Amino acid sequence: MTNARPILTEVAPTREWVRARRLAGEVVGVIPTMGALHAGHLSLAEAARRECDAVLATVFVNPTQFAPNEDFERYPRDLARDAAMLATVGVDAVFAPSVATMYPPGCTTSIDVGPVARPLEGAIRPGHFAGVATVVAKLFGIAPADRAYFGQKDYQQTIVVRRMVADLNLPIEVVVCPTLRDPDGLAMSSRNAYLSPPERERALALSRGLRAAEARYLSGERRASTLRDCVKNMLEAIPGVELQYIAVLRDGTMDEPELVEGPAVVAVAAKVGATRLIDNVRLM
Ligand code: AMP
Repeated sequence: MTNARPILTEVAPTREWVRARRLAGEVVGVIPTMGALHAGHLSLAEAARRECDAVLATVFVNPTQFAPNEDFERYPRDLARDAAMLATVGVDAVFAPSVATMYPPGCTTSIDVGPVARPLEGAIRPGHFAGVATVVAKLFGIAPADRAYFGQKDYQQTIVVRRMVADLNLPIEVVVCPTLRDPDGLAMSSRNAYLSPPERERALALSRGLRAAEARYLSGERRASTLRDCVKNMLEAIPGVELQYIAVLRDGTMDEPELVEGPAVVAVAAKVGATRLIDNVRLM
């Protein structure tokens, strides 16, 4: 396997790489990731490859979006493998900075995006979205691309990033790509690597629950409470699966209507053993 070239680790050369491409008249796409890449990440890179002239992926396990009790230390890291995977889909360069490069001594700014960052993930993972918003804003500052690619899998993150980009007038277009799933329906995630075979089987409760809610919606159900119950029943039937939240949201927002009247998203989070998983489905 060949590596994507170049692998950049410092701020100035990365900014220069992006600037040079844009000065040459190219549209530049950036894909922020934490590495431990899978086909879901690569689908974002492929979309960027189709829609942009030059593509930069970033690989950075961002400590500020992990709480002290979370999996920052054991989060899987393999830059050589990630770079090789990115090369297979034609990514032109990788930015893989150290923690010291991203957070040098004296760095204290943190971005609070406000109400959309508070419920669901924000409530269970206090500080998480401040970490996400800050690192994404920094990445946009380091790699001033035209377009940035994110996955629908992290629905609330897309809302938080869009809000921040709008509120701070950041000159970048946010593109959201569909969730890639394994053939049995499990949403691809770097954290799936933590699951034992029996846990992986139990983890299917999330996508099955969401599919059950979608089927109810397609047969005419519009009450959010009933749609939530579809997911809840599926999860509660599986021992070893601990439900954290189910929400029915107006698509593109964090509003929770009682009755679904337009496009919506059903979002779920659960722990399977020690592993925390999230997933969502769009109702249209
Ligand atoms: P992460 O490395 O988990 O921070 O994810 C980097 C980007 O990939 C985020 O925008 C995620 O939403 C996106 N992503 C993660 N899993 C998937 C998936 N299964 N399908 C599509 N995009 C994904």
